[in-house]
Amino acid sequence: MRAPWVSLAGGMPESRLLASVAEFTHHRDIDALDHSLVLSMAELVAVKSVTLCKRGDSLAHPVESLTVCTRNDEGRCVVEAVEPMRDGDPIDTIVCAMETLEVISDVTDDGRCRLVVPVIRDHAAIGALMLEADDTLDSVRTLVEGFARIYSNYIALLNESERDKLTGLYNRRSFEQRLQRLLKLQRQRARAAKRQDEERRHLAQDDVAQIYLAILDIDHFKRINDTWGHVYGDEVILMLAQQMRACFRQNDVLFRFGGEEFVMLIASEDEGAAAGALERFRQHIADWVFPQVGHVTVSIGYARISENDYPEIVLDRADKALYYAKQNGRNSVQGFESLTARGELGAPVALGSIDLF
Ligand code: GH3
Ligand code: MG
Ligand code: MG
Repeated sequence: MRAPWVSLAGGMPESRLLASVAEFTHHRDIDALDHSLVLSMAELVAVKSVTLCKRGDSLAHPVESLTVCTRNDEGRCVVEAVEPMRDGDPIDTIVCAMETLEVISDVTDDGRCRLVVPVIRDHAAIGALMLEADDTLDSVRTLVEGFARIYSNYIALLNESERDKLTGLYNRRSFEQRLQRLLKLQRQRARAAKRQDEERRHLAQDDVAQIYLAILDIDHFKRINDTWGHVYGDEVILMLAQQMRACFRQNDVLFRFGGEEFVMLIASEDEGAAAGALERFRQHIADWVFPQVGHVTVSIGYARISENDYPEIVLDRADKALYYAKQNGRNSVQGFESLTARGELGAPVALGSIDLF
């Protein structure tokens, strides 16, 4: 008997195809979209598995995430996020497709037919779709390429809605989701580092980065607007954002929170490294000559954030450190934890004495 999802060679009702595309593009959340894409494809074609790979940010981390839909013994589709390995099969094949931008159609060592289609955006691969089946996948190649294109276009739209129009940095709306993604990435890296250390029999787990949340506010910005007008004010905001992109690492996540306020999520081995990066940026801006306006300074407050923290509370901590910088001469970088340890922010509130909700 023919399974209902088998064979595109013989054609497929257009209504099913459209329903499938409509299903996965109705999501507004990227993780839900990824989940729905692999599920829709696995339900549509006769495969053992469909994998969506998201490209990582460096050669050391070529793959950021893998979302895999497999068919269990009863034929039901099951989707799960799989921790990506660094190399070996199939990662090497996926990376090859992403680097060459070519579709790869081959047979695995254990005899499965495999199709790997890169997901391309602006002449570079942002990921890849991989399908595995018992029989040849040649007949579904065009369909998978079409899905990859729709997915890429849709991701571009979602990404645009996460960006601030003036600066191109992430906007406040996307903060929570970006933070969760960064924390997830940290967890994966911590696990990978631990695995490697166990293999090497010596531990360097302490090297795993912490995340620091920093708030930056331009000093005396009202004066800039009042003296030179809003157009020059906007120009300062734009140039500052460009400098942020140039000075911080690719892994750091940069937001324009509104007006002349920016938020940064910085992954660093320790507080000294995070404070150093922020201090270098503060100094860089103090030295920079903005066209017409001249010198501009910024104040920065930061606090450590970890998985169990409520983001609002850490934002509030960084904001308190920023407020301290504003109250104490501006043009400085202040850390909440060190200010608290030095007793500069008043006595710490006793545990249990505040009602958060
Ligand atoms: P402080 O050093 O205490 O931060 O002083 P400040 O003058 O910068 O004060 P504050 O941060 O409170 O004021 C920010 C001002 O930025 C208020 C508003 O007029 C202006 N502003 C907010 N958004 C924009 C924007 O998008 N463009 C321009 N040009 N100005 C903005
Ligand atoms: Mg402000
Ligand atoms: Mg300001």
